Amino acid sequence: MNNPTVHPSWCDRTLCTADEHRSAPIPLNLNSVLWLPAREGTAWLTEARAPWSCEPYLRLEIGDAHLSMPAGDARRVLDALSTLLTSAAV
Ligand SMILES: [Zn+2]
Repeated sequence: MNNPTVHPSWCDRTLCTADEHRSAPIPLNLNSVLWLPAREGTAWLTEARAPWSCEPYLRLEIGDAHLSMPAGDARRVLDALSTLLTSAAV
């Protein structure tokens, strides 16, 4: 049984609601990215507050585009991209 009153370490108490834990947003500088609806984005973590176990999600907002995916899946995607970028040695 999950305890919804226990906040994850990443939870910003000023943004946390009765329904969801939420991290402080971080800005994403996308000035050099092509084909996006906006040049700035925001990312944050969220997790439902429920008596059962819930999974944290990574949320991205870029202009009118929104992305939400389980944090574990996001980690695997980012690890793969990190490995790819390491080969570029920049
Ligand atoms: Zn919280």
